[in-house]
Amino acid sequence: MEVRSRPSNVYTLNPLLEAAQAGGYAVGSFSPRCIPLIRPILRAAQRLSSPAIVQISQRELGRYQVSLEEFAQAFYAFLREDEITVPVALHLDHTKELNIIEAAVQHRFTSVMIDASDLPFQDNAALTSKVVALARPRGVSVEAELGKIGSTDLVETGQAEELFTDPYEARQFVGETQVDALAVSVGTSHGAYSGKQPQIDYRRIQEIRALTPVPLVLHGGSGVPAEMIRRAIGLPGGGISKVNLATDLELAFLSALGRMERLTNAECQALPPSLLAKGLLAVEGVVEEKIRDYLGSAGRAGEVLADTDDSFAI
Ligand SMILES: [Zn+2]
Repeated sequence: MEVRSRPSNVYTLNPLLEAAQAGGYAVGSFSPRCIPLIRPILRAAQRLSSPAIVQISQRELGRYQVSLEEFAQAFYAFLREDEITVPVALHLDHTKELNIIEAAVQHRFTSVMIDASDLPFQDNAALTSKVVALARPRGVSVEAELGKIGSTDLVETGQAEELFTDPYEARQFVGETQVDALAVSVGTSHGAYSGKQPQIDYRRIQEIRALTPVPLVLHGGSGVPAEMIRRAIGLPGGGISKVNLATDLELAFLSALGRMERLTNAECQALPPSLLAKGLLAVEGVVEEKIRDYLGSAGRAGEVLADTDDSFAI
């Protein structure tokens, strides 16, 4: 096994989310989708002295034609070039296949999500346990999902159904799998909201929170009013500690470009530099707004305590 050190501000989810739980805020997990959009996420976090997570899902890798290797390389290159010092994590979002998780660990992702939420409870728990056994000894944290988070736009996952997380099942699931963070289905959906109104079952979050020790993750944060997200984060007894945000970044990017259709990574990289710069500025603005108005993570960078394990064993 080869041991590689990582930059001192690159963490697993654990120290980021522990600090968030203690401080009553949440860390944004942002999906750039195309590689150039990684940079404005990091810059906004640095400017606001906020921790941040950069993520990409299995489905996005295909849809935007990005490889894990180039995504990770760009992430680490941008950290160096822009002298990013705030605490960050590189996270593999919704993934169903072990070989992709294995590749992410190889390419220095510090965290992975196994999404086996479409399987029956025991099969989901068994596959999740397998990922924990694969990732944890190598200094990589694991997020899993219980219940089904629905979607209005099947980009992040192919999950069209919705099934709320049962608090007692959540307790059993976390106990059996020992995951580091749990994505819960409490009413939000992936994608933009058109027609269907966002809703959050706050009581369910509190019930899950009371029964499980691990930080909870809210997916489908885009398009949900800020006061709803803030309430979910600040619930008495603790609420959500990580909020996934994808669609709002892409919508801001495309709107700055005056486009409706998505761009692949290659198309994005081929944009005229001045037009790309305009799009990236819009993304930076949205990330700043989320950090300030949604997450409450501005000025919290110094609260993250050092990871006890700061190297990868690959
Ligand atoms: Zn998600």
